Amino acid sequence: MILIQNALVLTPLGEGQPLDVLVDGGTIADVVRRGSLKSEGMERVDAAGRALMPGLVNGHNHAQTGLSKGLFDRFNLETYLNAQPGVSGRRTLEDKHLSALIGAAEMVRKGCTAGYDMFAEFPLPTAEGVEAVARAYSEAGMRAAIAPMMADKTFYEAIPGLAEALPEPLRSQALKAKYAPYPETLSSVRNLLSHWKFDRDRIKPALGPTIPHHCSDEFLVACRDLASELGLGIQMHVAESRLQAAVAPKIYGKSLVAHLHELKLLNPKFCVAHGVWLDDDDRKRLADSGASISHNPGSNLKLGSGIADMRAMLARGLNVAIGTDGAASADNLNAFEAMRLACYLSRVKGNPPERWVSAREALHAATEGGAKALGLDKLGRIEKGWKADLVLLDLGALHYIPLNDLASQIVFAEDGTGVESVMIGGRWVMRDRKLLTVDVEALRRKAEEAVARLRAANVEAKTLGEKLHPYVGHFCAGLTPG
Ligand SMILES: [Zn+2]
Repeated sequence: MILIQNALVLTPLGEGQPLDVLVDGGTIADVVRRGSLKSEGMERVDAAGRALMPGLVNGHNHAQTGLSKGLFDRFNLETYLNAQPGVSGRRTLEDKHLSALIGAAEMVRKGCTAGYDMFAEFPLPTAEGVEAVARAYSEAGMRAAIAPMMADKTFYEAIPGLAEALPEPLRSQALKAKYAPYPETLSSVRNLLSHWKFDRDRIKPALGPTIPHHCSDEFLVACRDLASELGLGIQMHVAESRLQAAVAPKIYGKSLVAHLHELKLLNPKFCVAHGVWLDDDDRKRLADSGASISHNPGSNLKLGSGIADMRAMLARGLNVAIGTDGAASADNLNAFEAMRLACYLSRVKGNPPERWVSAREALHAATEGGAKALGLDKLGRIEKGWKADLVLLDLGALHYIPLNDLASQIVFAEDGTGVESVMIGGRWVMRDRKLLTVDVEALRRKAEEAVARLRAANVEAKTLGEKLHPYVGHFCAGLTPG
């Protein structure tokens, strides 16, 4: 048993209260008035001068992007997807593990204790690749839902008219790489699920058919059936970019969400990533089905995708999580920053203050909302019987001086530098600012070697991406005029 004493504890209502927290195994055994429990026979942690908050839950991330940070300035989603083969190709299993571990280490360092990860491999997810990512999260000590990202159409096949708009020989070169046929993809996923060796309360599998029109309807229906057979969650990018929303009527004659609804994919285990270009009917369909949305404001800004209306989501009763997205489009994986941006972005475009997302609403989304999206029970709150995923913040950090309102200052001022210690499932993974589970210096050495090797190995694909870039950018811009 561990007794955390003298901290200012962030309660589920978002108030900082002088409470003591008793942790037994992986669970919060009790939350009591300060000083009311004797600590005999327990490990005692004096957290005076610290605040104790629930760990943040990152609603959307991509493990494969851990080696790609800093590479994508002035790319939108479409030109970013076009560039992927040039940066993500030819990875070894060790590279896949390393990329995930860098991300997990950074998230823990910044107070994040769980995350939803859509991990991509080409041309299909492999048991070994997904295991390498799951192992990375497990080693870092984090919780994760890992959704192998899947498609049966490449980006060039998925956007109507795009391939035809490319000049030869670029068209043939772009169309050369193919995803595996979906039955092969799903059989690989079935295989990896049957060998899942991780505790599902810590590292759980999910499915990630990436973008509706990058998957045939037969594939989406097969994902739906597999998810329902095995009780898995599904996360998909839905209406992330304006182009995605614009092509939906051309392909389906309706919105992306209306199409997914018709295919019966929407349910409480379904999570939309982004949801920028939704209308109120879409939000209602999602809310009525009990689905969640991961709002990823930083990535949406960096890729110029737009501003998702979190207030409208909440008003419809949707469960909202907050995510960073991968390190290529949210280079610092900072869930505190994502919370702050979620608040700020609700305040532009002349929105009246009563529609603004408050600090407490953002905190709720980034903790309990995220836990619900991941399908993890009793996570995201400091309350008796809930999981002991806890973060100690140093109230000596300048952004807490003076401390006027804990919840507000966490959301509007914390940048991760105040994170002092992190406990996940009752186990310290970071203590006194030192990561206990990951050797960061070794990560740096390995990452430098990997990036140099992969850069050389992917020269051809990168060059092709650079040649295609202006055509892709121009064609996609033409689909979304104005
Ligand atoms: Zn994503």
